[in-house]
Amino acid sequence: MATDYDAPRKTDDEVSEDSLEELKTRRLDTSSSAVDVDEAELAEAHELPGADLSNEELAVKVRQADEFTCSSCFLVHHRSQLAREKDGKLICRDCAA
Ligand SMILES: [Zn+2]
Repeated sequence: MATDYDAPRKTDDEVSEDSLEELKTRRLDTSSSAVDVDEAELAEAHELPGADLSNEELAVKVRQADEFTCSSCFLVHHRSQLAREKDGKLICRDCAA
């Protein structure tokens, strides 16, 4: 009888450990898949046109404080690189040279 008691106990322990490992594996799989979904949702949220436009407008306003966009090469230069302004168009030194 003692042997019969030991045998089922070992089996129970092995089963419980296996089930725990299975639970851990399942939790990892669930968490990883959940993270993927969250990242996808975050990416979609960042691609919202409204948010992007407002951010770009803010960036342009800050940029215009001491920088300008050349009307010839369309690159953003510091005001120190402004060569001339013609008909409201700003020309950088590279394009004016
Ligand atoms: Zn230019």
